[in-house]
Amino acid sequence: MINEALQALKEALGEKYVLANSEDLKRYNWGDIPQDRGIAAAVLPHTVEEIQGIVRVANELQIGLYPISTGNNWGYGAARPVTDNNIIVDLQRMNQIIEVNTELAYAVIEPGVTQLQLFNYLKEHNIPLFIDPTGAGPNCSLLGNMVERGYGITPYGDHFLSQCGMEVVLADGEVLRTSFGHYDNAKATYTFKWGVGPYVDGLFTQSSFGIVTKIGLWLMPKPEHFEACYFTANEDRALGDLIDAVRTMLLHGVVKSSINLLHRNRALTLLTQYPWSEMNGKVPLSAEVADRLAKQRKIGAWNCVAALYGTREQVSAAKKGIKKLLSGKVSRINFISEFTLRLLERYKGFFSIVTGMNVPELIKVIRPSMRILQGVPNEVALATPYWRMKKVPPEKDRNPAKDNCGCIWLSPVIPMTKEYVQDFRSFVEPLFRQHGFDCCITLTTVTHRSFDCTIPILYDRDDSEDSVRADACYQAVLRACMEKGYIPYRFGIQSMAELAGRNDPFWNTVEKLKAALDPNRILSPGRYSRL
Ligand code: ADP
Repeated sequence: MINEALQALKEALGEKYVLANSEDLKRYNWGDIPQDRGIAAAVLPHTVEEIQGIVRVANELQIGLYPISTGNNWGYGAARPVTDNNIIVDLQRMNQIIEVNTELAYAVIEPGVTQLQLFNYLKEHNIPLFIDPTGAGPNCSLLGNMVERGYGITPYGDHFLSQCGMEVVLADGEVLRTSFGHYDNAKATYTFKWGVGPYVDGLFTQSSFGIVTKIGLWLMPKPEHFEACYFTANEDRALGDLIDAVRTMLLHGVVKSSINLLHRNRALTLLTQYPWSEMNGKVPLSAEVADRLAKQRKIGAWNCVAALYGTREQVSAAKKGIKKLLSGKVSRINFISEFTLRLLERYKGFFSIVTGMNVPELIKVIRPSMRILQGVPNEVALATPYWRMKKVPPEKDRNPAKDNCGCIWLSPVIPMTKEYVQDFRSFVEPLFRQHGFDCCITLTTVTHRSFDCTIPILYDRDDSEDSVRADACYQAVLRACMEKGYIPYRFGIQSMAELAGRNDPFWNTVEKLKAALDPNRILSPGRYSRL
């Protein structure tokens, strides 16, 4: 059957774009979670018509297709399909920026368009718009992240909220256009999200109902003034007050970006690697060593970042509001503008003496972290997956999957109060410790009312025993989160069957939709759906 399919696909796409030998398919099993998948083949279409041809073949021969955009879904399975024996539909060649509308601040893009590509396009054409980059790095697709309902940190950080107008190839080969895109001459397809009639775009996110081939994406106008705001609490017990302040900042509109609260352990993963020799090869990191490493780098118990955009007056008002809300609650607040950064860079030696900090090392993280807030994708967050690896992360071109880093992401959502966060930490942190892993929490304000708590389980994928322990830790933490009601906003491929297998009206309805839209179950088998 597969040979017949490959023959038909080669005729439709050309030999070059149908990969079937194991060497070519290796990259689809690179890195991240411990589980590999058997992959039948990969095809690299270039047009919607070619995708329609692929779908036709899959229906005739009953073969599963697994569309990916750039396949960097790191920590959740990377490029791997949920089930074995799928043909990966790798959309990296469909990488056209179809339109950028400067006045209305949106772009229309294909799946293979990467964060770096759109950023470069805007820069080269002098277009004063920002993309909202994720920490996953320059070579990740914008569309792929939106389809997973991922997020960044600027005010356009909810990527599904910023999407407007979609083109989708359905399992029967029909091409569906949303918003007003299905009306000839429609003018507002990329400016009015809801269209008319039932709103269906959500059906094509976190689902197995279609292959998304084009989206509109709203972009943020470059502000007159920008400052990054870093605030730190040295004591862990300050977290409750910080949470109250952060929620007030958002609900009252003092800050319009998301706010990230990084636990000490998470901050350490950005700046260094696991201190194997100091720990005599033991895991997890002891409190004493963690404290020492943190003190050397002036990392607090909680390290927070927000971004301020607007006119000079707006930014200045926001700074006042932040200072007032954080008064007496933090050990330090720093506002860093372009000017301050340049000053720091020029007089690093002087500032190191005055502040007692290693300013050059600090700048290495501050500069790229500020750039992300200004729409410049980079690799600063990609140090984290290398934490427990025994090899040093490359200075550039970091690819945790290719480097076989062990990283399993968990992303439970927590209502934004100190009581809920305390409750969450009370069972999650001991579970990490028991399994020998460091609990590296980041709390990101994904709405004004909830945190997404992204916690990676960082392990050494080159060590099979560590992989087994990492999987056991993941299963235990996920189970506890589900039982206690802190449900992740997104799941890795290893947990889809359990997620969608539940016999409840929600997943039963998803099943009915699947049966109606994809009766032969050829699209993304098992992805947020039953097998
Ligand atoms: P990124 O490289 O941006 O992280 P991926 O390409 O890995 O994103 O996409 C994340 C997940 O979203 C994939 O595993 C796949 O299941 C789904 N996906 C990606 N692109 C599409 C698409 N164009 N149509 C349908 N599903 C997609």
